[in-house]
Amino acid sequence: MSSIKKAQTGYLLPEKDCRGYCEPVLVSACFLGIPCRWHGRRAKRRDALLERLKKKYVLVPICPEQLGGMPTPRSGEYLHGGTGADVLDGRLRIVDSRTGQDLTDFHVSGARYTLEIAETIGARRAFLKAGSPSCDRDGVTGELLRRAGIEVIRVP
Ligand code: SF4
Repeated sequence: MSSIKKAQTGYLLPEKDCRGYCEPVLVSACFLGIPCRWHGRRAKRRDALLERLKKKYVLVPICPEQLGGMPTPRSGEYLHGGTGADVLDGRLRIVDSRTGQDLTDFHVSGARYTLEIAETIGARRAFLKAGSPSCDRDGVTGELLRRAGIEVIRVP
């Protein structure tokens, strides 16, 4: 088995528990241990979670902040004084507290690209990292996905 095939089988395609059709779902890429978090260090791989989800779903990893064009490492901003809904509706801006750079457009772009991926693959659910200004259910991406009718499950 080639390494690519092996990697696909290991990460994305259920091997034996899911014969025939398996529902595609989005998952936060950092759950796979991919170093896409703001600090740039390798995230802890969530093996138990991945094993559980792989029994039912085809997992499609996404990182909205990278999709939106932000570098890694990047500033670790939180939503101060509002939610992703406020950002999407233009009531709240996300600003780097150290440099003053306005990061709002990156977050909104990342949310839109994530939704585009969800629609392309037909995902109706997303298992996303709680507490992230993007991935949280109330984050920018979480909110946009929910507005599109996609169920967002917060994973602590
Ligand atoms: Fe993980 Fe989401 Fe943050 Fe990307 S934006 S590092 S996927 S929590």
